Amino acid sequence: MDPTDTIVAQATPAGRGGIAIVRLSGPKTPDIAAALLGRVPAPRLASFGRFLDARQEPIDAGLALFFPAPNSYTGEHVLELQGHGGPVVQETLIARVLELGARRALPGEFTQRAFLNDKLDLAQAEAIGDLIDAGSREAARAAMRSLQGEFSLMVKGATEALIALRTYVEAAIDFPDEEVDFLADRALAQRLEEVRDQFEVVEERARQGRLLREGMTVVIAGRPNAGKSSLLNRLAGYDAAIVTPLPGTTRDVLREHIDIDGMPLHVLDTAGLRTALDVAEEEGIRRAEAEMLRADRVLFVIDALEDPTGSAFQAERQRLPDDVAVTLVFNKCDLAVGVPVADTASGPPRIMLSALSGEGIDTLRGHLKSCMDYHGLEAGTVSARARHLDALARAREHVEEAMRQLSERRAGELVAEELRSAQQALGEITGEFTTEDLLGRIFAGFCIGK
Ligand code: GDP
Repeated sequence: MDPTDTIVAQATPAGRGGIAIVRLSGPKTPDIAAALLGRVPAPRLASFGRFLDARQEPIDAGLALFFPAPNSYTGEHVLELQGHGGPVVQETLIARVLELGARRALPGEFTQRAFLNDKLDLAQAEAIGDLIDAGSREAARAAMRSLQGEFSLMVKGATEALIALRTYVEAAIDFPDEEVDFLADRALAQRLEEVRDQFEVVEERARQGRLLREGMTVVIAGRPNAGKSSLLNRLAGYDAAIVTPLPGTTRDVLREHIDIDGMPLHVLDTAGLRTALDVAEEEGIRRAEAEMLRADRVLFVIDALEDPTGSAFQAERQRLPDDVAVTLVFNKCDLAVGVPVADTASGPPRIMLSALSGEGIDTLRGHLKSCMDYHGLEAGTVSARARHLDALARAREHVEEAMRQLSERRAGELVAEELRSAQQALGEITGEFTTEDLLGRIFAGFCIGK
């Protein structure tokens, strides 16, 4: 990717629509505007004009908006052409812009240029992607917070605290003959602790944000006819799975995307576990077992009327590895009133509900949230990704190592070194320290035109 190229892409989705926007960015933009419109539009003023082809015939007519560098989204000269939203007219317009010396933008290339020109940091650039991809209002709000810089500010706050500490420690190393032994000073240990605590706050907010983005994978399993499909439909709020009184209706794995207070729930309804009657069902059961191993939680549905002790689960348990988190869902509590549910003190958590009437469904939702320690969009939740959490965790570990080096060995150099590494880990979040490879991966996840 040559950053001196002028790039072009349709900024609105492909297809037909009232209006479509073609966007250009780069040094040739004013020349292309002059050729296309017959003039360079006045900065930041919408003006109506005809978009001309090589023979000066209009391709389309619409609004042109010119943002001279550096006051634009990318920091470069940007032109937006708002025309009629038809695929042919848009492609013809883009072809004309290419003819005039631009090239097609790669996915996320406008935002990448904004990052390279310091219009936003990496966490904010990622927040733009998250805002576009948000699957719930809560996820969109958290992404907006990150985009406005809340997450970056928290990271910067932690970075500044680290820099202050480094300065302090490095001064102590440089002047070992000073009368006061800085490293023996309890104040330093206390400041390290404060920084560590600050990290924990940032980590927790980012962890909530990651849940908003990535959610939880739940597998619904159990014997045929226990009510698995009914439970999926109840959670989804509409008929996603076919419900019939015939055992073995759901043969393949069904995937649904639902959210609980903004946390996406990837629910997989699986073929009932029983001795298969045919090859297709056998394959369905094999897939069900494979999915269970990958899930954050397995909801093992039991027909409370027919199997009040949950013997179906006892039979299946042997086939599951120990680290699969299971909740036993005793379904059909509308029919099974008064049926004792045995042995509640030990084994996996149990929930009584009725997929038919909806009773107990809220309890299940609350249970799923608490399984993931998800608190909803409380103050401060910002959108975050796995790589942010990883960097935060590494930064915190370096601070903890610094605390150990100080208390056990009073090793000033090693403390300073750990603090430097912690700062570097934080810098990866906002993009101060990044590799080409990482940038490539991040922006490749964007749509073309963003
Ligand atoms: P699956 O094979 O486990 O997916 O079970 P289904 O969801 O297809 O349900 C099997 C049968 O049980 C259907 O006739 C459902 O209407 C019925 N059923 C499911 N949940 C309940 C419930 O909570 N109460 C009652 N009374 N019937 C239910």
